[in-house]
Amino acid sequence: MIDEQGWFDFAERRPGPADKVYSEPCTSELFIPHSAVGWYAGWASRLFSTARLPNGRYTAYAAASVTGWIELNGHFIQHYPINKSCWASGSPYPNTRGNAFEHAGGAPGNFMQPFTPEQVNTDIRIVLDMQDHHKRNHPGIYNNLWKEPRRPASSEDLNATLYEHNECIRWGSLPTACPSERLRYAWGRIVTALNEQEEENDMSDERLDAIYRKLDGSGDPIMFPVLDAGAPNGIKHIPLSRLDYLNYKAYGLMVTDVNVSKEWQNLIEGATHPQAHGHVITP
Ligand SMILES: [Zn+2]
Repeated sequence: MIDEQGWFDFAERRPGPADKVYSEPCTSELFIPHSAVGWYAGWASRLFSTARLPNGRYTAYAAASVTGWIELNGHFIQHYPINKSCWASGSPYPNTRGNAFEHAGGAPGNFMQPFTPEQVNTDIRIVLDMQDHHKRNHPGIYNNLWKEPRRPASSEDLNATLYEHNECIRWGSLPTACPSERLRYAWGRIVTALNEQEEENDMSDERLDAIYRKLDGSGDPIMFPVLDAGAPNGIKHIPLSRLDYLNYKAYGLMVTDVNVSKEWQNLIEGATHPQAHGHVITP
């Protein structure tokens, strides 16, 4: 949860320089993930740099701030409370209305490295906490944006909740590749988790996992064939959770006619309503 000062209770707190924010508070209406294009040490050297130009302003290198940082393993470092307006998203509107979160990885040579499942789990905790925060404290914001949070429907859509950095050009931010399609598979999970109903699933992922293993007979996780341009023959085999399976299938990346029994497909697609539930989030 988010405390009264604007800190997430599960984050490690490493406060950034107090003056690297707008004087205007942040209303925290939007969730804006970024690609760090690198690693924490590099980021921290910018965030904590106090290098200034002769006119007193921060250098371009030092003029950087962001609400939080998410490591590949999902560890969440928070630099500013959510009610501080950081400088990450390129223009005043998204900076004073939204919280930006850097994600480790996507370094040169691997710009499109997908967010890891652990990073996405942390994103889901963050957005669920933001949703809960507004539900309890800001009914107007909750009813407008967080009751059924969504991605923008077009390049002109100003009333969504979940924007990428490059989508902030609608408010005057400079064009950017960030986050370099690193959320291609993540958005489905995030949106689904946010819009889930409180109802309990009738079959847990854990129970389904046990059944999958039995069907396979080996006791090992079943490896699923999925399309991957980087693989030698265009297909790779990876273990998937039920939710990941549904995401891969939704994106047309599942090779369903190879090595996956019809029985299994029917089970995974028919056993439960294809929606994320609380238990997919790593505590
Ligand atoms: Zn960015």
